[in-house]
Amino acid sequence: MHEISLNHPRYNSLILREKMAKAYQEGILADTALIAHGRGEAFDYILGEKTNLPAIKAIKVGVSAMLLAENPVISVNGNSGVLAAEKIVELSRLIPATIEINLFYRTPQRVRKMEELLENAGAEKILGRQEDDYVPIAGLEGPRSRAHPEGVSRADVVLVPLEDGDRAEALVKSGKKVITIDLNPLSRTAQTASITIVDNVVRTIPLMIQELEKLKEYPRDQLIDMVNEFDNKKNISKSLEMISNHFNKEVSS
Ligand code: ATP
Ligand code: MG
Repeated sequence: MHEISLNHPRYNSLILREKMAKAYQEGILADTALIAHGRGEAFDYILGEKTNLPAIKAIKVGVSAMLLAENPVISVNGNSGVLAAEKIVELSRLIPATIEINLFYRTPQRVRKMEELLENAGAEKILGRQEDDYVPIAGLEGPRSRAHPEGVSRADVVLVPLEDGDRAEALVKSGKKVITIDLNPLSRTAQTASITIVDNVVRTIPLMIQELEKLKEYPRDQLIDMVNEFDNKKNISKSLEMISNHFNKEVSS
């Protein structure tokens, strides 16, 4: 690890980068995970590295959908595990939701390391383990099609941070409500999900926990209304507006 001074203007971003680089060196992440992280960083930069109003709206709706779900599942990929394992485990306990490992570049060694990472973060039950059985998701092939019979396969609502576009689309097609966390409002995942949170997973998961504390006191009908009234496309447009405002501001200042 390099020394990063606390007063460095890019301190938080550099800390996350170091975390990702370390996880890559330890073999948890594939090299392409670092590239995906870089794409996220670029979008986060232009979003001001803070959670914007449209994201807060989507967080509230997403948490409501998870509270209403019969079988909510949190699908954890390498990046979200490395960046937010403890908070993901806490959220899964509070909802309560099942945790399932879902790696894009799945190798037995990486799956084992993810199991270890989640166990160290306090997870008691983890699906998608190396030896676990799976049912393929219709429309997908190979490791990406993996869905645990007791997890993603039978879920009605799935939280899939940083999901791949094809898989997000296949999950929506199979009738599930798909909540994603993706900094790129234009990605196929962001565009196809049912509820898109355009924000950094590092900020989103703790905010989901905060919102959950409030929303669990709400009457069920109110949560249902909130989910039914939500217009994902409109909400994504608001995130895009924030991005274009950012550029307009830069040009005019
Ligand atoms: P898609 O497959 O949905 O079209 P893509 O191919 O552009 O997306 P992927 O590599 O499949 O991108 O997924 C990485 C996505 O995760 C990118 O959209 C990136 O912006 C986003 N991302 C990266 N890091 C974070 C993070 N920390 N929090 C939220 N989103 C992130
Ligand atoms: Mg992709």
